[in-house]
Amino acid sequence: MRIVLVGPPGAGKGTQAAYLARNLSIPHISTGDLFRANISQGTELGRQAKAYMDAGELVPDEVTIGMAKERMEQPDAAGGFLLDGFPRNVSQAEALDAMLKSEGMTLDAVLDLEVPEDEVVKRIAGRRICRNDSSHVFHVTYSPPKQEDVCDICGGDLYQRDDDTEETVRKRLEVYHTQTEPIIDYYRGQGLVVTISALGKVTDVTERAMEALKKSTQHAKD
Ligand code: ADP
Repeated sequence: MRIVLVGPPGAGKGTQAAYLARNLSIPHISTGDLFRANISQGTELGRQAKAYMDAGELVPDEVTIGMAKERMEQPDAAGGFLLDGFPRNVSQAEALDAMLKSEGMTLDAVLDLEVPEDEVVKRIAGRRICRNDSSHVFHVTYSPPKQEDVCDICGGDLYQRDDDTEETVRKRLEVYHTQTEPIIDYYRGQGLVVTISALGKVTDVTERAMEALKKSTQHAKD
């Protein structure tokens, strides 16, 4: 299965991607996580990406597409992958199509997570993430850790992402509407889009997502 996950910042893409990837036995590829790993390792790529990320803007395609391609070419992704945060604009979507086409591959589905804007801002402002594993996500009021700033799952340090400030969130939302939302229409033209609501309990959203993916990929096979 080759799946793309789209949705505004704070829709829960990272959380859902981790569960879905495990359920479907495919790797979860997050360009945001790849950038953050580069930043914490102090690489040149990380240095280039950081200023854009902190401003809530997209990292330029020249940097992003090469990095995503390299990750998708790793052996563990040969049988499929779940993309989270890539593509994020139409030119990235076209680059992904060209890359898949050259390998004789196609996408199976594009899962679109829908969530109202005021909810997004609330979710992100209180979000705390584990330094050891970005899928260990907490919220100061919605799902507080038992001990402040300590991950319930692995004991790691919880932190607030540099780009999770209210001002940057507004910029990220604007970028989402102007640059990322158009890829939903792009993929709709290919009959790949499945939209679900991302409201409610994490496990309910995962179930909804699995159901929707099953239906849409079954449909494609019929
Ligand atoms: P979120 O989905 O919560 O906005 P991500 O971790 O996916 O968070 O992305 C954080 C930041 O990383 C983005 O705001 C952007 O600066 C950068 N980024 C991630 N993926 C891409 C991409 N495909 N193209 C350009 N920039 C990206």
